[in-house]
Amino acid sequence: MFKKVLIANRGEIALRVHRACQEMGIRTVAVHSTADATAMHVRLADESVCIGPPAARDSYLNVAAILSAASITGAEAIHPGYGFLSENASFAEMVEAHGFTFIGPSPEHIRMMGDKIAAKQAMKSLNVPLVPGSDGELASLEEAREVAERIKYPVLIKAAAGGGGRGMKVAHSAEELEEAWRVARTEAKAAFGNDAVYMEKYLDRPRHIELQVLADTHGEVVHFGERDCSLQRRHQKLVEEAGSPALTAAERNALGAQVTRGLSQLGYRNAGTLEFLWQDGQFAFIEMNTRLQVEHPVTEMVCGIDLVKEQLRVAAGEKLGYGQEDITFSGHAIECRITAEDPESFAPSPGRVNTYHAPGGLGVRVDSALYSGYAVPPHYDSLVAKLVVHGKTRAEAIGRMRRALSEMVVDGIKTTLPLHQRIMEDAQFQAGDYTIHWLERFVGRRD
Ligand code: ADP
Repeated sequence: MFKKVLIANRGEIALRVHRACQEMGIRTVAVHSTADATAMHVRLADESVCIGPPAARDSYLNVAAILSAASITGAEAIHPGYGFLSENASFAEMVEAHGFTFIGPSPEHIRMMGDKIAAKQAMKSLNVPLVPGSDGELASLEEAREVAERIKYPVLIKAAAGGGGRGMKVAHSAEELEEAWRVARTEAKAAFGNDAVYMEKYLDRPRHIELQVLADTHGEVVHFGERDCSLQRRHQKLVEEAGSPALTAAERNALGAQVTRGLSQLGYRNAGTLEFLWQDGQFAFIEMNTRLQVEHPVTEMVCGIDLVKEQLRVAAGEKLGYGQEDITFSGHAIECRITAEDPESFAPSPGRVNTYHAPGGLGVRVDSALYSGYAVPPHYDSLVAKLVVHGKTRAEAIGRMRRALSEMVVDGIKTTLPLHQRIMEDAQFQAGDYTIHWLERFVGRRD
């Protein structure tokens, strides 16, 4: 096992990786920008290196500075967390070229899945069902029209290099297509430097259901069941559950068997998540994330495993040492993403947290880098805490989340805590009766 790991990230996820390392007796190196000198991930790490000014492109995305930090501290491996460099195939390549282990999949698979068109083609060849759409990149507006006529409106134009919901535009009719085509390509070019787009049928009432997988380097691939991430605003997840209130064990197992077989054929390694839309009893693949996800704790709570420790073990070449039949699911887990934003307008609200109090008690987990007196910097993602609960049943988990939300104090900045409380109190949410479009309407609604 590694003796020292550099964590190329910040905030709650840097802390999350640090905790797994500590429990395994691995020393940690934190990297940080000048804006994060007093951040919790820096305070708790065994060593830390300042890698640049506040702007992420000069610090957390500064590959040369990160590799130098690994080199001078004698780290053997680098964990990228999520976001930043986690899905950058060139970074993974450079990490390995410099003699460090990248804690994640091979650069080849990161590259393949980072191109959503290539990812869909790979899944098609493995017989994983897809959302109906164009066969690869759309070469012209004319081709877009032809595909839309064939699959019928509404359609969605999506960026091949997409992420974070950017470069995605719906066209409800032929009249709207030209505009959607133009805007999606312009957005994709601006956000990703790549204006390649493709088309999918726009599903009117799907759920977002994703499958957590893990593979060692000896050919063993397992899945840890699904997460339901349908509660989204602007294609960004706010609340996640494991398992999905909509899925039966048989449906989960059938999908899991097909996916693990496919990934084993591909020779995939480390953690990954396959995202699907689920409508009318059918799964349709949309993309694969080749990293740890923000919402991984709900899976950990129902499976009783530590996914980061598993990532470290397989990256060090260890065998999983268990098979699919050893993985069992117990109870229900829910995660609320608490962000430093106005709960109604979603305007960012960075600044000093005067008082921070985390809830506790049976079945409550808080993943957060907050502390009283900490100033949330304005330069990064607004996620400040993940409140996760586990209960014997979904109803118990909801009751526990309501109780935990009511105990939590983040004073001095605005947060989405009140919005989460409102969601947990809603009868439709409690009934598990929602699709990916539900939250937008809920947020817009003023009772
Ligand atoms: P990104 O990588 O930008 O997050 P995804 O392909 O993962 O993009 O899609 C993000 C979200 O957008 C999905 O979770 C879903 O809510 C919505 N979405 C994506 N594809 C479709 C589709 N074909 N029909 C309806 N909604 C979709």
